[in-house]
Amino acid sequence: MEKEQELKIYNEAIDFFGVESQKIMVIEEMSELTKELCKELRSRGDIPHIAEELADVEITLAQLKMIYNIHQAVEEQKDYKLNRLAKNMAELKKAQNQ
Ligand SMILES: [Mg+2]
Repeated sequence: MEKEQELKIYNEAIDFFGVESQKIMVIEEMSELTKELCKELRSRGDIPHIAEELADVEITLAQLKMIYNIHQAVEEQKDYKLNRLAKNMAELKKAQNQ
């Protein structure tokens, strides 16, 4: 789906269901993904269900970013945290090789 269409649907969902409802949906969908991951770790899950719940989480997280208008702040946090992760791994690899 095109990004513009995706954003339109998110906005319509927020307007139609309301901000509070969509915040609750994020929590519900994260719980469903948590359940599927737990099932998979107990060898009772399956990848299609994980994919389904992960999609639900991504859809609701996108709406949450719109509700709080924090797209740029999230991207900045991701850049900072990914750079920190890369630096930490490089230091750990270096220490392992000493
Ligand atoms: Mg779900």
